[in-house]
Amino acid sequence: MAIKQFKTESKKMLDMMINSVYTNKEIFLRELISNASDAIDKRYFRSLTDSSLGLAREEYGITIAVDKDNRTITVSDNGCGMTAEDLENNLGTIAHSDSGEFKGENKDENISIIGQFGVGFYSAFMVSSKIVVTTKALLGDTAYKWESEGVEGYTITECDKDTVGTEIVMYLKEDAENETYSEFMDAFRIQSLIRKYSDYIRYPIRMNVETSVPKEKAEGDNSQPEYETIVENRTLNSMVPLWHRKASDVTDEEYAEFYKGRFYDTAPPVRTIHAKMEGNVEYEMLLFIPQNAPYDYYSKDYEKGLQLYSDGVMIMEKCADLLPDYFNFIRGVVDSSDLTLNISRETLQQNYQVKTIAKSIEKKIKNELLKLQKENREKYEDFWKSFGAQIKFGVYNNYGINKEALQDLLVFRCTSGERFITLKEYVEAMPESQKAVYYAFAESAELAMKLPRTQAVLEKGFDVFLLTDDIDEFALGAINMYSDKPFKNVTAGDLDISTEDEKDALKKANEEYNEMFVAMQETLEGKVKAVRFSGSLGDNPISLSSEGYISAEMAKILSRMPGNEMFAHADMALEINLNHKLSDTLKTLFAENKEKFDLYTKILYAQARQISGLETENPVDLTNMICQLMTD
Ligand code: ADP
Repeated sequence: MAIKQFKTESKKMLDMMINSVYTNKEIFLRELISNASDAIDKRYFRSLTDSSLGLAREEYGITIAVDKDNRTITVSDNGCGMTAEDLENNLGTIAHSDSGEFKGENKDENISIIGQFGVGFYSAFMVSSKIVVTTKALLGDTAYKWESEGVEGYTITECDKDTVGTEIVMYLKEDAENETYSEFMDAFRIQSLIRKYSDYIRYPIRMNVETSVPKEKAEGDNSQPEYETIVENRTLNSMVPLWHRKASDVTDEEYAEFYKGRFYDTAPPVRTIHAKMEGNVEYEMLLFIPQNAPYDYYSKDYEKGLQLYSDGVMIMEKCADLLPDYFNFIRGVVDSSDLTLNISRETLQQNYQVKTIAKSIEKKIKNELLKLQKENREKYEDFWKSFGAQIKFGVYNNYGINKEALQDLLVFRCTSGERFITLKEYVEAMPESQKAVYYAFAESAELAMKLPRTQAVLEKGFDVFLLTDDIDEFALGAINMYSDKPFKNVTAGDLDISTEDEKDALKKANEEYNEMFVAMQETLEGKVKAVRFSGSLGDNPISLSSEGYISAEMAKILSRMPGNEMFAHADMALEINLNHKLSDTLKTLFAENKEKFDLYTKILYAQARQISGLETENPVDLTNMICQLMTD
């Protein structure tokens, strides 16, 4: 029988498994058992429409057998089995290995990838030097044997097997100096692995376990008891899904193991929500808020969804209708006996139960996030760095329809400290004289802090949110105000932070020098909508401010979004600090030296653009103008 080659990518992955430095080799058992359980599920499903294909409920099961003499571990199931074609397709290729993620070179990276995917069947090669799979499919006449010693390839031959199902024999690798494989033949070890990873599997996982029991004694015999070894066929798993158990009986470690194993994360969840809901629709939910975004979270391949069960039987791997887009990072399980087994994707959306469940799940998630925000701000900030953008997008999306539900989840950095704060916290700390919620936007918090107009607001003793995410300003724009306090971009329009006297003085000065400002506007060829004095620039000489709804930053972002170019224009005003010596210089030049006045105006405008983070329109001209000044 000719040896067949694995597909290239599968070969790489297999090679990685065989030479794995992954420390968590023990997961191989979990993977095989989960496959066995899936296979039994499949057979069970098919027997719903054709009862001749099924077994009695109590006959389904998974068996583990150890043969110490031959150094083998065998996992058998009476599930759906595989045809020769299935063997070829399923074990010759690995589902995820065509993703190109596996470079096979950087070991550390690969390890974290092993953790992120369920690497499934191939993980058995971490502990085995040879694997033999014997299987017979439902309705199949012939049984087949798949055999492989690793990257060299595999063979598929016909063989004898009476019953439908699959048997996987692993020939354990020889123990090496710092790697022992014999431990996996130890009954205790196997039992504890099953308890750790596979306890909730719904079918019994049985194994013959040797135990020593006291021999029976005659009545009145007070001598030391003698022991004998008997072989007991034990069921190793409790078969109760974790979510069926009472939350108070489940430890954090159990939740973490379950989460990591099932959702392929290497870190434990930030929070776990486990609840049994009663009412119109009865169901259990076990939800997890992850710490880190999965590797594909920001790609278009990412699919949201929760695993949907009907009384312990999985009916859908990813039920998208249970989660709103802005909570698409939540992982978990929903189980309701009110759902019928044959619910289809099409009927799901209209399904009353699913809608009800989705609504209450959303509420639960939000409350849990608010709780985390209150109890552990540092952890919340970590969470926020991974998923905050998604929630901000939720605020802004669909014309802000969800803004009220989500606004209290938002946190931003601000000028008053390192910690991120909420809108509520900001508003509650506002001094009475402050009328608006101020925010500044720049590439980094440090730059936002240094903006002239940020400084002016700070001088008044008001806090300023420092925004750095493209979506931030759009999200705040959608909310518009909080607790009756309007949001104000520090670089837009009138900041309204001056006293009445200051306002009067400013108004007067602006009227008096109107002619000068018109001249400057002409010099700038209409690039600015206005030029004026400002009293709100702190120590800084100049600033650009925007006049309408679209700020300079928004215009920049919009210009990068196809189809939005026409909105990508901000009307700008050039502001000169009335209290800065520069204002006197300009006044004098306007009266005495028109040529220099023009030159100054152009340079000031170019500098103001730079301060606002806008690109320099013509760097060569600017340099020449500055040099002209220097050499005058
Ligand atoms: P995954 O389980 O993520 O699909 P695996 O590599 O573990 O990846 O398995 C590949 C495929 O092989 C499975 O999807 C399934 O179709 C098939 N398979 C594996 N183990 C069994 C089994 N015990 N019985 C029937 N089919 C199996």
